[in-house]
Amino acid sequence: MTFQAQADTPQLAALRREVREFVASERPTRSYEYLGGDDPEFSRKLGEKGWIGMCWPRAYGGSERSLLERYVIAEELLVARAPLGFHWIGDRQAGPLLLRYGTEEQKAAILPRIAAGTCRFCIGMSEADSGSDLASVRTKATAVSGGFVLTGAKLWTSGAHRSDFMIALCRTGPRGVSRHEGLSQFLIDLRAPGVECRQIENIARERDFNEVVFHDMFVPANCLVGGLGEGWKQVSDELALERSGPERFLSSFGLLLELLDVLKAQASPAAAREVGRLVAHLATVRHLSRSVAGLLQQGEVPALEAAIVKDIGTNLEQEMCEVVRTLAGVEPDPQAEGLAGSLAQVLWRAPSFTLRGGTREVLRGIIARGVGAR
Ligand SMILES: Cc1cc2nc3c(=O)[nH]c(=O)nc-3n(C[C@H](O)[C@H](O)[C@H](O)COP(=O)(O)OP(=O)(O)OC[C@H]3O[C@@H](n4cnc5c(N)ncnc54)[C@H](O)[C@@H]3O)c2cc1C
Repeated sequence: MTFQAQADTPQLAALRREVREFVASERPTRSYEYLGGDDPEFSRKLGEKGWIGMCWPRAYGGSERSLLERYVIAEELLVARAPLGFHWIGDRQAGPLLLRYGTEEQKAAILPRIAAGTCRFCIGMSEADSGSDLASVRTKATAVSGGFVLTGAKLWTSGAHRSDFMIALCRTGPRGVSRHEGLSQFLIDLRAPGVECRQIENIARERDFNEVVFHDMFVPANCLVGGLGEGWKQVSDELALERSGPERFLSSFGLLLELLDVLKAQASPAAAREVGRLVAHLATVRHLSRSVAGLLQQGEVPALEAAIVKDIGTNLEQEMCEVVRTLAGVEPDPQAEGLAGSLAQVLWRAPSFTLRGGTREVLRGIIARGVGAR
């Protein structure tokens, strides 16, 4: 396991300033929704700036910039609580997956659309009874003439009803001894016949989750992503991308900024100490997360390191709510303006921080195995 320090170079610092100026001039909506919610128009503008798919080859709409440059942009936009949901999954994981494993036809057709901010992806991994135990997915893709027929259902699929495509993990063969055999990934056109998105309300009364049902849906053979039966390895690569970014410790960062505004005039030594402790923890997890971006840049698949970032980062995001509530002396109130309203917004979502993208217990199992303690 290797973690390495990465400070802003002058080039990264200049890019950071550019993003701040862009946000100040665009004035996007600010929200505590996951990834600030969806705004296709804002995503399109980011695409025009070359800030989506920015590490990809120019031939596929990218701008061949570094993962650390991507990191700086992501960090600044997340802190601004700008709406990133429309392009995030395509930029973070579906695009890199296609770049690595997709056919030339898939890359040419899809990557430029993601990079332009005009195409939304969702993640088709979880099913009923197959969340943590992902290898047990039961959605079946049966080979037929010219392609596959998909039968089954995905669950908790965020934003599927607003998405153009899903990358779906399906069973295409027997489980084998390791249980990881016989899984394959497919590029699913969610506008094609045979697929149905059923929205599910969450605790915050938002209808972002879906059950996505495949009614014997025909999927052409050219929609298989990577090798038949190679799905487990591919999905493991994806999870390293999904777990290590700044979105895993910045979900409640806005609360800290709001708290500082409230405390400014009246910070007691005890409050200052507590804020200092939180900021020190944030700085540490940010350091870990940036160094994972460095490992990804070198072409490694840092699954263990990503699990550590997500575990520490999401626990910190949750802790932030309680610290803010205690120090500011406010109770959450969804009807209120200011910190009380924001606290209510974040508290509704906080339980999900340590579930989505892999639960706390599952991540700790991965970490234990990774350090040889299991
Ligand atoms: C906000 C949100 C958005 C999501 N978006 C998506 C999405 O877009 N696409 C998608 O595919 N999925 C999505 N998910 C699903 C998410 O990945 C799963 O909820 C998660 O993997 C847990 O699976 P589960 O809900 O089936 O719980 P289970 O796997 O049934 O786990 C229940 C409990 O048992 C514990 N547990 C399970 N196995 C072990 C073990 N081996 N050792 C110790 N404890 C264990 C878990 O930690 C958990 O506390 C989303 C979830 C949330 C909350």
